[in-house]
Amino acid sequence: MKLSDDIRYVKGIGEKRAQLFEKMGVHTVQDLLYHLPRTYEDRSVIKNISDLLDGETVCVRGHLIQGVRSFRGAGGIRISQTAFSDGTGILKVTWFNSPYIQRSLFAGREYVIFGKAAFKANHFEMINPITEDEDKNSGKTGSVLPVYPLTAGLTQNTVREALKNVFSSLSERPKEIIPKKVLEKKGYMPIWEALSSIHFPKTPESFFEAEERLSFEEMLVMQTGIIKLKDVKKAYTAPPVRDVRCVKEFASSLPFELTNAQKKAINEICADLKRSTPMNRLVQGDVGSGKTIVAAAAVFAAVKSGYQSALMAPTEILAKQHYDTFSKVFDGFGINIVLLTGGQGAREKRESLEKISNGEAELVIGTHALISENAKFKALALAITDEQHRFGVRQRAFLNEKGVNAHTLVMTATPIPRTLTLILYGDLDVSVIDELPPGRKPVKTYAATEKMRKRVYEFVRKNINEGRQAYMICPLVEESEALNANSAVEYADKLRREVFPELEIAVLHGKLKPKEKDGIMERFKNGKINILVATTVVEVGVDVPNATVMVIENSERFGLSQLHQLRGRIGRGEYESFCILFLGSDGEIARERVRVMCETSDGFKISEYDLKLRGPGEVFGVRQHGLPELKISNLATDMELLKEAQEAAIELVGEDFDLESEDNSPLKAEVMRKFDSSGGRSMLN
Ligand code: ADP
Ligand code: MG
Repeated sequence: MKLSDDIRYVKGIGEKRAQLFEKMGVHTVQDLLYHLPRTYEDRSVIKNISDLLDGETVCVRGHLIQGVRSFRGAGGIRISQTAFSDGTGILKVTWFNSPYIQRSLFAGREYVIFGKAAFKANHFEMINPITEDEDKNSGKTGSVLPVYPLTAGLTQNTVREALKNVFSSLSERPKEIIPKKVLEKKGYMPIWEALSSIHFPKTPESFFEAEERLSFEEMLVMQTGIIKLKDVKKAYTAPPVRDVRCVKEFASSLPFELTNAQKKAINEICADLKRSTPMNRLVQGDVGSGKTIVAAAAVFAAVKSGYQSALMAPTEILAKQHYDTFSKVFDGFGINIVLLTGGQGAREKRESLEKISNGEAELVIGTHALISENAKFKALALAITDEQHRFGVRQRAFLNEKGVNAHTLVMTATPIPRTLTLILYGDLDVSVIDELPPGRKPVKTYAATEKMRKRVYEFVRKNINEGRQAYMICPLVEESEALNANSAVEYADKLRREVFPELEIAVLHGKLKPKEKDGIMERFKNGKINILVATTVVEVGVDVPNATVMVIENSERFGLSQLHQLRGRIGRGEYESFCILFLGSDGEIARERVRVMCETSDGFKISEYDLKLRGPGEVFGVRQHGLPELKISNLATDMELLKEAQEAAIELVGEDFDLESEDNSPLKAEVMRKFDSSGGRSMLN
């Protein structure tokens, strides 16, 4: 059996199951080898804690008697500790550099713990054991069994058997992706051994070693890709924007003074625009920090020098809103703005496309349609992406790939630690807007329980009677916009019937047609709608300063960063704003989260808490940064490893720019494969 063999020829798989494997992206034997376990289970020999012997490697089943405590020890090592009880005794457990532990274990839940027991003074202890959630245990016997990601129709046993067969019948070994030099320097085991230890762990030690090695490999591929991306961009040219001083004229036309942070960002952008090397800049600023005006200043400079600019937004609502905002701020400057979205009629679209190609359109604002409609610009100098985390790698440098060389500006409100930014966005320069416009009153945030529902409604009514408007974010059913849409409609009906019959209530959700969404936003903006019931579609960018109240149902179901983005829709004008968080459940974590929301409005702080409470996987999901998905690595917490991978990548590319040497070519092939399949363009040749 060969690595490139189709999965259907593996013993035990066959035609039908092969299709299921393909659903998970497993097409070849090689893919199967890299289909890594999600977790492990083992209940072959479960011992009572009171019967443990010093030095034996065993399984214990017990419940977590306290949450996992995590802290930094000597030399910056991250230590996570907790204790389990099985009724016969207490087992203390310590993990080193395993930050994911904290998010995966919960006090009170039962787990199977597999590791080496050591007797310490008066209790037993395990270092770096493997833990499995008892609920998810399927009850197989044997040694430690891998638990794989599955798709409907496949069982754990099928995958395990298939892998066993592959391991016993493979006539060749997978290529080392990590160049030999790096592998030796790191002292890592060969890939074959690592894969074997990950699929069939013998000891916790070999498992953790294998895990780190595979994690490093993934990060090396990603970092190499990012570095190449940057180098490729350096080879492009972009039209230098000669006159950037005119931005002053624009700034003084605004009804407000720019903040210092905005001025700084604009200066940095202008300095980039003057050059013929393309700008590649990320503007990072918390919700409400005023990124739009910064983008407008850049557009102004480009347009005044005779070039076209394009701005891409992730949703129709936001694109339309930007269109309105730019029309307003450019009023009197005679700048021709054109909208291009997927929701437009064929004729409208055709007209827009025509103006884009004949140069009449000086600023084009649109959605993804800017790419999919194949817009051809006459003289594009500046391409801006708003809320970049919603797009992928391809869009990060959008339009460049059509052979149009332009300055690129991307904007995001996702607050991520600076060090992580530098690594994730290693191909971009960064401007941070770390200051809110003056006079912003922090949004007053309160937690509410069912008992207070009536009072909350009265409070909403009072604010509306004073002329304000409200958002009510309906219960989050699931990660399915269809279900959430239903829930929103029902929730709004109920409010209309039973609570606010006298008020104008509209519903906004992701399943509406673009025209319907537009109409609703238009009426909400004009104050014709008192209460906008919405799903999280209002989360990105919507700006209606007269809306000052936000009620969020079952807030415990939303991530903290998401709550922060939602709350960012209010507190945008001169009026005091209020956010009320209904708590559907009363767990300790739920209360803690609400406490954080009530205490701070700083996006960076909130994302730090989010990290602690929910774990990095969800907070900094790699997907939202538009990079290839990482299967095993944890970007936010495996920072050390990530840094090492970055250093290794820089060194490799420095020595062998095209990664042409025999030792480096497997890495090159892997980078191309990963970045291409995640929507990036081929960047290596
Ligand atoms: P975000 O950074 O979240 O995209 P916006 O660009 O939508 O924020 O700006 C939020 C609001 O703040 C808008 O209503 C905008 O007009 C206003 N704003 C932006 N800059 C300033 C400023 N320097 N002074 C006062 N208001 C400002
Ligand atoms: Mg914005």
